[in-house]
Amino acid sequence: MAVVVMKFGGTSVANIERIANVARHVKREVAAGNKVAVVVSAMAGTTNQLVDWVNEVSPRYDAREYDAIVASGEQITAGLLALTLQTAGLKARSWQGWQIPVETDKAHGAARIAKIDGGRLRERIDQGEVAVVTGFQGIEPEDARIATLGRGGSDTSAVAVAVAIGADVCDIYTDVDGVYTTDPRIVPEARRIPRISYEEMLEMASLGSKVLQTRSVELAMVYGMRLRVLSSFADPESLPAVEVGKLEHIGTTVCSEEDIVETQVVSGIAYAKDEAKVTILKLDDKPGVAARIFGPLAQSAINVDMIVQNITPDGAHTDLTFTVQAAELPRALEVIESIKKDLGNFEVRSSKGVVKVSIIGIGMRSHAGVAAQMFKTLSDKGINILAISTSEIKVSVLIDADYAELAVRALHETYGLDAQADPV
Ligand code: ADP
Ligand code: ASP
Ligand code: MG
Repeated sequence: MAVVVMKFGGTSVANIERIANVARHVKREVAAGNKVAVVVSAMAGTTNQLVDWVNEVSPRYDAREYDAIVASGEQITAGLLALTLQTAGLKARSWQGWQIPVETDKAHGAARIAKIDGGRLRERIDQGEVAVVTGFQGIEPEDARIATLGRGGSDTSAVAVAVAIGADVCDIYTDVDGVYTTDPRIVPEARRIPRISYEEMLEMASLGSKVLQTRSVELAMVYGMRLRVLSSFADPESLPAVEVGKLEHIGTTVCSEEDIVETQVVSGIAYAKDEAKVTILKLDDKPGVAARIFGPLAQSAINVDMIVQNITPDGAHTDLTFTVQAAELPRALEVIESIKKDLGNFEVRSSKGVVKVSIIGIGMRSHAGVAAQMFKTLSDKGINILAISTSEIKVSVLIDADYAELAVRALHETYGLDAQADPV
């Protein structure tokens, strides 16, 4: 008998019919004797609608009220699924974050889970009741306020619940049948990756592949929780139920590097659209300037990603380019404006029309020339690189947004990721 966490995203619970289909997936696991906790997202489009309403009422909203509003979508789905399961003859109960409780920190709107007491949930599922848990939300215990985990946060709820109840696996059911070499909506030739390492998945997620929230992969990696990405649209009766000690590799399994036999040099390609570029021209070239710019940005909790510094021809000045999240650009510009009086007469330029494209693969550690191949591919397509950043297992470039799709497709082909055409 296995303990299983099953997470269903927005498209998978978009209407009553799809919720009934989710119930069939749950029923398969229960029929096999498994103990099940289900984590659900809001019905497709609901969270966006709630966020829009918040912005309509108050663009500079109070984050506590934002959370009170946007957390409500998951509550509807949890209740509806619990009822659907009951109607199908299963024992089921819905659980909101505060009832478990899922305790978070105070960062409303992008809170992190601090602690989950899995005891009550475990007791109930041990009695054969399906626990239907609201994803995305928890409670900040000091002020007893609902907090949400950032967009896509139900994935993280699922992994955290899986760890808290000692689950054998955390299955993420979504609208694609696994993690692909790149977003299959952009590149139809993209292929499903049967197994991917935690490290690669972490990079893919944090570099823009929103199929899993970054924090969920981080948690799974830290706790060694086995994670699979599966399609909720697959016929529920056709999928094998989870068995202890024998995990079928359907969909994509996110696992340790040692469990992957065949490693690729480049496993996947990610792109992130919500980037903005800031260039500061004619900074004095002297020690401490970078610290005086990036210090205040960090203090304002603005994440700076890629950084490029050039010396100007006169040798006395430098130009500094860096990227931030597009949503944080106005705040970043405010911070820079506020340090202008200390740092002299520099000029600031910024633009939002940029995209970060990244190649990811653990095989890069042992292969030379991977980055050079990327730059050549882009140059052959006439695509200009605005900034570069690298780590042991990824290379990212910043390019003009107009070329994003072209770059992703070209790189996908260069690294041999395109699906082989079926032999005729
Ligand atoms: P859910 O609502 O189930 O959480 P999401 O929309 O958050 O689903 O994530 C699934 C989507 O992620 C897919 O529909 C796909 O367009 C997108 N996606 C982006 N990159 C990838 C990738 N590398 N592999 C699979 N899907 C990806
Ligand atoms: N409903 C939330 C969102 O749309 C959380 C999630 O679906 O994971 O971001
Ligand atoms: Mg998601």
